Amino acid sequence: MSKIVGIDLGTTNSLVAYMDGKEPKVIADREGRTLVPSVISVDEQGWIVGARAQRRLMTHPQSTVYSVKRLMGKGLADAQEERKYFPVSLTEKQPGIIQVELGPYRLTPPELSALILKEVKHRAEEFLETTVTQAVITVPAYFNDSQRQATKDAGRIAGLDVLRIVNEPTAACLAYGLQKKKQGVIAVYDLGGGTFDISILKVKEGIFEVLATNGNTHLGGDDLDQRLMELVLQEIRVEFGQDLQRDVEAVQQIRLGMEKAKRQLSTEEVTEVVIPLKQGVVYRRSLKRGELESRVRDLIDLTIGPCRQALEDAHLSLKDVDEVVLVGGATRMPLVHRLVQEFFQKAPHSELNPDEVVALGAAVQADILAGGIQNMLLLDVTPLSLGIETMGGVMSVLIPRNSTIPTNAKELFTTFVDGQRSVDVHVYQGERELVQDNRSLARFQLKDLDPLPAGLPRIEVHFTIDANGILHVSAKDLRSGRDQTIEVKPSYGLSDDEVARMIEESFKFAKSDMEARLLIEARNEAATILRHTERALKQGEPLIALDERDRIRDRITALKKATEGDDHRLIRERIEQLDKITVHLAECLMDSTLQSGLKDKKLSELP
Ligand code: ADP
Ligand code: MG
Repeated sequence: MSKIVGIDLGTTNSLVAYMDGKEPKVIADREGRTLVPSVISVDEQGWIVGARAQRRLMTHPQSTVYSVKRLMGKGLADAQEERKYFPVSLTEKQPGIIQVELGPYRLTPPELSALILKEVKHRAEEFLETTVTQAVITVPAYFNDSQRQATKDAGRIAGLDVLRIVNEPTAACLAYGLQKKKQGVIAVYDLGGGTFDISILKVKEGIFEVLATNGNTHLGGDDLDQRLMELVLQEIRVEFGQDLQRDVEAVQQIRLGMEKAKRQLSTEEVTEVVIPLKQGVVYRRSLKRGELESRVRDLIDLTIGPCRQALEDAHLSLKDVDEVVLVGGATRMPLVHRLVQEFFQKAPHSELNPDEVVALGAAVQADILAGGIQNMLLLDVTPLSLGIETMGGVMSVLIPRNSTIPTNAKELFTTFVDGQRSVDVHVYQGERELVQDNRSLARFQLKDLDPLPAGLPRIEVHFTIDANGILHVSAKDLRSGRDQTIEVKPSYGLSDDEVARMIEESFKFAKSDMEARLLIEARNEAATILRHTERALKQGEPLIALDERDRIRDRITALKKATEGDDHRLIRERIEQLDKITVHLAECLMDSTLQSGLKDKKLSELP
C-alpha cells in the first residue's frame, strides 16, 4: 500500500515524515540525518541536493542555490527585496515567472523546489520500501494564493499529488494534538534559519483560524552564525595578523564551525572551537553558553516586537494566550526558550523536536486524509480576503479573510452596453481598500454571451476556495440555465500547460539525459571553435612557422575525431588543447590587423 507522507519544505531545511501506527515519525537517511538542507547544485553528473550541495556553496557558488522558498510564486518585481539579501541571478521568463540561473540552466522556483521534493520523496521510498505518490506539504500561514499554487506545482513536477497544503503553524499545533482542545488561543513562535514567523491561532473544535501573523523575513539562526563569524574574523586579525574577510573559503569554514558551536551550546555549557586555517595555523578558543547568549541577545530580542504586534492585530492580550508552541531549529537555544517564556508568561511546548514538529504535523494531516485518524475534522482558514475590482478601482470583498476553507461565494454579473458579448472580471487578494494595493490573482472573461440589451443578462459567478486555499471559478447564465464559459488567466504563477512541460523537462534533466545534453553542448562548441580556427589558420598561415601550423592542424584533426565519438569530456579536453595551442596564432592575427588598421588612420584619430 502506498503511504501519504507529510513534507516540511523549508527555506533552510526540508523534512519528510510519515505515520507509524499512531505516531508520526520523521524519516532519516542511511546516516541517520533527518534534515535535508534546502540547497541545490548541479555538476556534469547531474543534480545535487542537500548536504552535498550545501558543501558546494563554498566551492561552486555559481552553480549552487539556496533559499528558493523565498522566490516561490513571485514575479521579478516581487523579488527585488530578496535580491538584496542573497546572490542569485534572476531573469523573467515571462511576466510573473522568475527564472534562476544555475550553471548552464535556468529554472523556475517550482522546478528547483521540485528537486528538493524529489530528494525527500526518494528518501521516503527507500525507507518505506514502497512508492510514494501523495503528500501533504506545509507553507507559511502568510503565503498568498500564487505562493501556494507554486508549492503545489513543485509537488506535481516532482511526481507528487499534493493532497493538501497546510499552514506551518497549524501543522505544529497538530503535532502537539492541540486540535483536540475544545477552544483556545495558540501562539506559534517559529525561528528558522533565515525567517521569523509568529502566528496567533484560534482553535475551536478542530478548526484552526489564523487570527494574525507577523514576523521578520530576514531574521534567523543564520544571523547568529554571521555575528559569531565576524567575532572570529576579528580575533584572527588580532591574534595572527591575518585579514581573512575576502577569503571566501575561510569565511565559509569559520561560519560552519561557529554554527556547529552554536548548536552544541544548546545542550552544553561550554564548547571548544577549533578551526584549521591555511598554512598550518589553527584558531582555537573555548566558548561558553553565557558568552554566546550575551553576543546574540539583541537579535533574539528583535522577535518580541512582532509578537506584541500580532497579539494587538488579533485584538488579544497576553493572558488570552492558552498555549505557546516553539517551532524551528533556532528555538532549541535555551535563551530563545527563556525569552519566549518571559514574554508570554507561560512555559512553551517543547516536548517535540522544534525542527521536526512541522513535518510531524504534516504527517498527522496526511493520516487524517488517508482515513487513518477519524472522527476529526481539520480545517484551515483562508489567510487573505478575496474580492473583485468594482467601479473606481475599489476592492469588493467576496470571501473575507479567515473564512474556513473550503468555502465559496457567488456574485451576479451583467453587461453595461447593448449587445455586449463578453464581460471582464478581475480578481484580487488582499486587505486593502483599493485593488491597486492588493495582489492581482486572476482575470477572467465571461464569453459567448447572447447579445442582449445592457443590464439584462444575469450571470452568476461562483468562487470556490478549495481545501488548499486555491481559487476556482465557474459561472452560470441564470436566464438560460446554461453553464458559461470562463477563461481564467492567473496573473502570477504557472499555467497547467507550463507545469506539464516542466514535468516533461524534469525528466529530460535526469542523469542520462544530462549526459546527452552535455554531449550536444560540447559538440556545438567544438563546431564553433573548429570553424573559427580554420578561418584563422587560413588568414594567419603566412605569419606563423610551419611546425606551429602542423601542430594546430593535428589538434584540429584530433578534435574532429573526438566529436564523432560520444565522450563529452574528451571533446572538452581537446577543445581546451586546441584553444591553448592557437593563442599565439590569435596574437599574430591581432597584431597584423591592428597594424593594417593603423595604416589607414591619421595619428590624430588614435585614442
Ligand atoms: P527553516 O524553517 O528556515 O527551514 P529550520 O527550522 O531547520 O529552518 O532552522 C534552521 C536553523 O536552526 C539554523 O540556523 C540552525 O543553525 C539552527 N539550529 C538547528 N539546531 C540548532 C540547535 N540545536 N541549537 C541552536 N540552533 C539550531
Ligand atoms: Mg521551518
